[in-house]
Amino acid sequence: MAIIVQKFGGTSVGNVERIRNTVNRIVEEKEKGNQIVVVVSAMGKTTDQLVSLANELSSYPSKREMDMLLSTGEQVTISLVAMALAEKGYDAISFTGWQAGILTEDVHSNARILEIHTEKIVENLNQNKIVIVAGFQGMTENNEITTLGRGGSDTTAVALAAALHAEKCMIYTDVTGVFTSDPRYIPNARKLQAVSYDEMLELANLGAGVLHARAVEFAKNYAVPLIVCSSLEREEGTIIEEEVAVEKNLIVRGVAFEDSIARVTIFGLENGFQQLSSVFTTLANRHIDVDIIIQNLTEKGNTYLSFSIKKDDLKETIDILETNQEALGIDHFESETGLAKVSIIGSGMVSNPGVAAKMFEVLSQNEIAIKMISTSEIKVSTVVDEEQMVKAAQLLHEAFELEAVEQNI
Ligand code: ASP
Ligand code: MG
Repeated sequence: MAIIVQKFGGTSVGNVERIRNTVNRIVEEKEKGNQIVVVVSAMGKTTDQLVSLANELSSYPSKREMDMLLSTGEQVTISLVAMALAEKGYDAISFTGWQAGILTEDVHSNARILEIHTEKIVENLNQNKIVIVAGFQGMTENNEITTLGRGGSDTTAVALAAALHAEKCMIYTDVTGVFTSDPRYIPNARKLQAVSYDEMLELANLGAGVLHARAVEFAKNYAVPLIVCSSLEREEGTIIEEEVAVEKNLIVRGVAFEDSIARVTIFGLENGFQQLSSVFTTLANRHIDVDIIIQNLTEKGNTYLSFSIKKDDLKETIDILETNQEALGIDHFESETGLAKVSIIGSGMVSNPGVAAKMFEVLSQNEIAIKMISTSEIKVSTVVDEEQMVKAAQLLHEAFELEAVEQNI
């Protein structure tokens, strides 16, 4: 019997009616003769609401207590889904992340999964039960509850699919698949039938909220076929796999964007090289995700350094830099918020040199100032003002004719 993992996001379980609908989708797969593991997110905007509550009571809530708080959201959903399945006459059992055997590293708010002890899940599947697992959470060796980072339920689902050797992992969401850009902001965005793991990884890392980046990493490493589709509409979704037939003339396949970016600039690093690595090691030790890095040499031979981070990490970054200012040999530093990242992605870029130039030209012609740039073989990212983010994405989507491309799969 094949095992299928089905993951339902917050909107798919947002209220009683949505949960009933989700239960129907679960039952359908079960009736095809599969063994089913379901992973769910917290209902609707629950996680955001819990975050706001914490911020009302604390200016700097501890990450451990945040994990204690946020992990409750998914627990509400698992039990409700199990009850709704029982109501329809199906045997179902819910498990928290730790009950399901998900062991993570000892890091709060953004832990990685280390191992999954699947015995309990397998035992229950073999008793013909539908197993419902809380997404986004796990436990450390010391029995501390951890969470996997916002959007982490996808990673729970794919990791379970890998550990259980599932036939596929279905990600049910509120859109019908992976789009060339976020259709909520870019009306001409269209659904892609297929994307490669690498492209999806870039898209996810660069702000396409549809999938958690680590989930894609897992899927790639363990060759788990991933399907993103709607829980409400009966439309074929997007398949994410290793090799994807290339669409006709499509160099750029997606435009991704992400707001709430901050930039930190450090001045007066005297002996650039060594201090540079100390700065980043210090930040890395505190799990601050540094993204784009730009290093410059002044005429006097001093180094100054800019890097981008998520705005949420700014407070902690400033804290770290202030505490270590002397040790790191920093003269002074500045920070800027209100920034966003806009990126273009596509495997075809490797062999097409003019792509970045075209991107910069489009932005400059429209008076959108580029504050930082980073490139890889299959993407170009720029940091711009937050207010210009959607406009920039729209212009690029148009310039690279993403709405017009004929499907050729
Ligand atoms: N509930 C968590 C969040 O909102 C995890 C998830 O939905 O994947 O980030
Ligand atoms: Mg999500």
